[in-house]
Amino acid sequence: MKRNVLIIGAGGVAHVAAHKCAQNNKVLGDIHIASRTLGKCQAIIDSIHEKGSLQSAGRLEAHQLDAMDIEATKFLIRATHSQIVINVGSPFLNMSVLTACIETGAAYLDTAIHEDPAKVCEAPPWYGNYEWKRRQACKDARVTAILGVGFDPGVVNAYARFALDTYFDRVDSIDIIDINAGNHGRYFATNFDPEINFREFTSTVWSWEQNQWKANSMFERRKDWDMPVTGTSTTYLTGHDELHSMSQNLGVPNIRFWMSFSEHYINVFTVLKNLGLLSEQPVRTARGVEVVPLEVVKAVLPDPASLAPNYTGKTCIGDLIQGTKDGQAQQVLIYNTCDHKECYEEVGSQAISYTAGVPAVAAAMLIAKGTWDVGQMANVEELDAAPFIELMNRMGLVSRIKDAQGDRILHPRQESAYESKPRMLVNY
Ligand code: NDP
Repeated sequence: MKRNVLIIGAGGVAHVAAHKCAQNNKVLGDIHIASRTLGKCQAIIDSIHEKGSLQSAGRLEAHQLDAMDIEATKFLIRATHSQIVINVGSPFLNMSVLTACIETGAAYLDTAIHEDPAKVCEAPPWYGNYEWKRRQACKDARVTAILGVGFDPGVVNAYARFALDTYFDRVDSIDIIDINAGNHGRYFATNFDPEINFREFTSTVWSWEQNQWKANSMFERRKDWDMPVTGTSTTYLTGHDELHSMSQNLGVPNIRFWMSFSEHYINVFTVLKNLGLLSEQPVRTARGVEVVPLEVVKAVLPDPASLAPNYTGKTCIGDLIQGTKDGQAQQVLIYNTCDHKECYEEVGSQAISYTAGVPAVAAAMLIAKGTWDVGQMANVEELDAAPFIELMNRMGLVSRIKDAQGDRILHPRQESAYESKPRMLVNY
């Protein structure tokens, strides 16, 4: 059993993670929230009290922390007796926080791949440039480090794992489809950190096709999908974190990621990019001030967390998996839909933050109970997906499956084709 959680970051995803930890504090123990801006941590704590989210009376504290400072992070982990660290700060922090966890023995979780501020859309497999270099260190220290355990990356990796183990003899393709059919009512805003959001799209878009990496540029390949609840939406082939691990771990020849964008988003993005305002490289103004254009754009755009009160509509994110079973062609869609307004009513957040924060806490609970406390580094598709999907069904993120048998809630252990098998981590 591991107990006491330190949440790093105090943005939209941290807000949801903190509420969900509070709703499950009998299992998770003390909850600490640490970020650069102490007031943001305190505001999350106030919101937890307002919503009555605490399952039982317990410690809930805010801390000021620069998580790039490894020694300060180690000190806080030890001072708070935290055995689980949920890193939902900016992805620039991953390697510092991971190091602090390895050196203190705390379990580590994050929801995005590490980023270097000076680089975008790095060469695949991106994890190999950073996190995977610390695999042996995690193993030596018996530290559990679960990478990318939000929704995408995260839940979509688990959907792929579950489908491969349960419904197929051979999988030919996995299309991850991410639709946000919501409306926040603002002229322009991103649903999570604008800097990170834009950095995903400003350079090469990598996909995994015919067992090799294929480079595209953004908005080059378009495809319409008819999804449950959200209906038909236009998506574009996009590079995304999970492709960098699933391509290496699943043995599936084609894995693609499709994200929905409105014409308006594409127009604004194109203007900003063509003007050079999405560049991560510093420029000097006439007054001699050095600025990073992308950071300036972030500073003037709405804080994604501020979109929550007026957000309406739904998201639908899932995996369309195609292959064969007993020689017959087989197609399965595993997905979740989430309602922005319902998320706001429950925890005061919009659905994009909600769908990322809930899985991270579900994973923390599986570590606390020992089920996922594997004592080494793992991407989500390397772990047993069934307990994760089952737990999220009870935590507000319900998974569904649509196949030849119809459209139903996915209860992994009730699926007739499911066979319980101990999942072995890939031996590195
Ligand atoms: P936000 O920008 O809203 O929040 C980031 C937080 O990190 C802020 O509170 C920020 O502090 C804090 N932070 C930044 N630098 C430091 C530092 N040096 N030390 C301490 N704290 C720091 O982002 P989101 O909540 O929207 O996203 C959080 C993470 O989740 C990101 O990595 C994002 O990519 C990921 N994500 C994953 C998804 C998934 O499905 N897998 C979906 C959505 C997001 P300050 O407020 O002071 O700037």
